[in-house]
Amino acid sequence: MKVYINGKFYDENEASVSVFDHGLLYGDGIFEGIRLYEGCVFRLDAHLERLEDSAKAILLELPWSRQEISDAVLESCRMNNLKDGYIRVVVTRGKGSLGISPKTCKDPQLIIIADKIRLYPKEVYENGLKLITVPTRRNHAAALPPMIKSLNYLNNILAKIEAQHLGYDEAIMLNDQGFVAECTGDNIFMVKKGVIYTPTVQSDNLSGITRQAVWDIAQKLGIPFKEGVLTRYDFWIADEAFLTGTAAELVAVTEIDARQIGDGKPGPVTQKILEAYRGVVTKDGTML
Ligand code: PMP
Repeated sequence: MKVYINGKFYDENEASVSVFDHGLLYGDGIFEGIRLYEGCVFRLDAHLERLEDSAKAILLELPWSRQEISDAVLESCRMNNLKDGYIRVVVTRGKGSLGISPKTCKDPQLIIIADKIRLYPKEVYENGLKLITVPTRRNHAAALPPMIKSLNYLNNILAKIEAQHLGYDEAIMLNDQGFVAECTGDNIFMVKKGVIYTPTVQSDNLSGITRQAVWDIAQKLGIPFKEGVLTRYDFWIADEAFLTGTAAELVAVTEIDARQIGDGKPGPVTQKILEAYRGVVTKDGTML
C-alpha cells in the first residue's frame, strides 16, 4: 500500500512523520474518514468542507486548496487500485518543539491512507447492535467542541473502553447536561411512531456526513425527520434505533441499556433507509 504525505507517495512501511509532530505529541490536528464505493468517493466535497471547518476552528491554516486535497484523495485511491475502500485524511499541526505552543509548527502534514475497512462482523449488520450508556460524558462544547473532527479522540476512546469493560461493542455518550449526544464514533437515531429523531448538533456531537445523508434519504422517501434534545428514556421506548458513520455505515440497534428496542430486530424504517443508502453511495460523490 502507498501512503500519501505532502505531495509524495511512500511505501506503507516507510510512511512516517516526526516524533516531534504535534499531532503525535498533543493530538493537535484534524482528520476525515471517507468511503469509496464502486469508484465513487461518497460526498467527498462535504468531507473536505468539514475538514476546512475543523482546520479553521483550531486555527490551523491549510496550505492546500480543496481542489489539491481532493486530487490527492483521488490519486491515493488510484495509486492503490481501490474501487471500494476507506480513505483517512489526516492533517497534523506538524513538527514543533516539546512545548505545546503551535507557533513552533511551521509545516503541517497532509497524510492520506487509502485502505479497506470493516468495522463490525457480518452478524452485527444482520442482527443489530446492543448499546450501553457509559459514565464518560461527551466533551463540553466550551472545552473542545465535538463538531471539530480533531485527532484528540481520548474522550471517545475512554467511552469505548467503558463499553467494552461492560461487555458491549459500542456506547451511548451523554452530553454534560445528561442528554444523548452520540456514540463513540457514530451518530445515533431513533424511530417512534414512524418519525425519525436524532440529537441536534447542539447536543454535542459531530455533524456526520452519513447523518446528513440519512436526513436527505428520509426527505426523499417522505419519512418525517426531526432533530431534538433527546433523553435516554426516549431511546429506551423507541420502536427502532440505529447508528450511522462513514466506517460503520448504518447499523441497527436492538438493545439499549438492557431494554429491548422494538421487537429486538432491525426495524422496517431502519431497513428502508439502509436500502436507500446502499443505492446512493455509488452515485452521490466524486468519481475516480
Ligand atoms: N461522531 C463521531 C464522534 C465520529 O467520529 C464520527 C465519524 N466516525 C461520526 C459521528 C459520524 O460521522 P460521519 O458520518 O461523517 O462519518
